[in-house]
Amino acid sequence: MTSRPVTLLLLLAACAHNPASSAAAPPAVEALALPPRTELRGPPRGEDWQGLGVEAAALLSQYIRINTTNPPGNELSAARWFATVLRRDGVESQIFEPAPGKANLYARLKGDGSARPLILLNHMDVVLASPEFWRVDPFAGAIREGYVWGRGALDMKGEGIVELLSMIALKRAGVRLRRDIIFLATADEEIGAGVGAGWMAERHPELVREAEFLLNEGGTIRADEAGHVEYVGVGTTEKSPFWLELTARGTAGHGSRPTPDNPVHRLVRALARIAAFQTPLIVTPTVERYFHDLAGIEADTGRRAALANVRAAIQDSEAARRLTGDLTYNALLRNTISITGLKASDKTNVIPPVASAAIDVRLLPGQPPEAFLAELVRVVNDSAVTIRPQGPNWPATESPVETELFQAIVAATHARDPHALVTTPVLAGFTDSHYFRRLGIVSYGVSPFPLNDSEGRGVHGNDERVSLADLTFGVRFFYDIVARVAAR
Ligand SMILES: [Zn+2]
Repeated sequence: MTSRPVTLLLLLAACAHNPASSAAAPPAVEALALPPRTELRGPPRGEDWQGLGVEAAALLSQYIRINTTNPPGNELSAARWFATVLRRDGVESQIFEPAPGKANLYARLKGDGSARPLILLNHMDVVLASPEFWRVDPFAGAIREGYVWGRGALDMKGEGIVELLSMIALKRAGVRLRRDIIFLATADEEIGAGVGAGWMAERHPELVREAEFLLNEGGTIRADEAGHVEYVGVGTTEKSPFWLELTARGTAGHGSRPTPDNPVHRLVRALARIAAFQTPLIVTPTVERYFHDLAGIEADTGRRAALANVRAAIQDSEAARRLTGDLTYNALLRNTISITGLKASDKTNVIPPVASAAIDVRLLPGQPPEAFLAELVRVVNDSAVTIRPQGPNWPATESPVETELFQAIVAATHARDPHALVTTPVLAGFTDSHYFRRLGIVSYGVSPFPLNDSEGRGVHGNDERVSLADLTFGVRFFYDIVARVAAR
């Protein structure tokens, strides 16, 4: 399997760079006292929000110290910590342990049952961090310069804490609910498969399937210095992964006596054709609507015109070139191909019998995988090279926008700025939302944090951090959304 060596490499890298496995490991989080609670008498007001923001920062700092780099994930420690935090506020939770060290946590705040539940979904695992490139220890949970620093601060431990505190704040405030609120913290999002959200949806559908709504990562938000919201992107759909393995076969031999059908040469020729292949530009209805929305806030007149009428723009080679020069726009206007992995001989003097490559293909919603595969076979044009799906492969899913939850997000946004744009980007990557959309649950990606570009680069990058101001904003924004859709 193509993914094996990659997984092994990640594992080795995680061991090599993982500060928790070094001698200077911080004290166990279980030994730390939980930060003080922000007491509430009724719905939070004024200084209550500052208190909840400080509480969010302190909780996030502890949470980051639980190193959940995946693999191996170690989500069980994080789940136990969540259970402790919830229990202090009188919320019992269930921990599922699908594999040693792995866990999913499920907690439920009861409503009167007159409306169906809302799920607050978050993943506990994080990607690896290489401390030598960071200004701080990525697993120390440092709070300084107005930020909480560490791997997961944004993706998505920070959002997980915001979800947790918005639910807990509703309970502390004694707000009566129409619908149950389900807090679901899961494993294995970052490896694209495994025993996390998909495992819960498959093995315990009875716990989630009657839900009407779900909030998850996968949104974006932009605000000015004063905290006025300019733009909220609600993720309603995602491109679908269609990962492929390319295999070339030939005759093995000694490197000193070249064989005419060396599989590495074959593979390289096939990959060269794929690398040169330009997938056609496609405008899907959701992307067209999103670009049209963006045109309304675009300052550059040329780009504004192209976004406003993207179907015309892609017919004009100069406009198309400028649009696709933006990597994000490019990914939304076509099916994409990235050659990412190569495997052949591990000895310089040995011609292997087989050589293979991993290709990360992302299809736009509505694009049939079989047709794409057939096209790729035509491009490669070599019967000694086989192409087959390998790894994450599922059809794209989409949630409608004509819902009470979407209205709640719009209302919460416009309460912050009546002129803010609320739009529905298509995510080029994927989240766990597709597992729940398939169950018929309306699932949106919503971010609680207005980020600038430099802060946004911390996601899967270095110096990942979230500001105390953004945490306070996030708890208030999410509380507002959840209260609008769930309070009586
Ligand atoms: Zn994430």
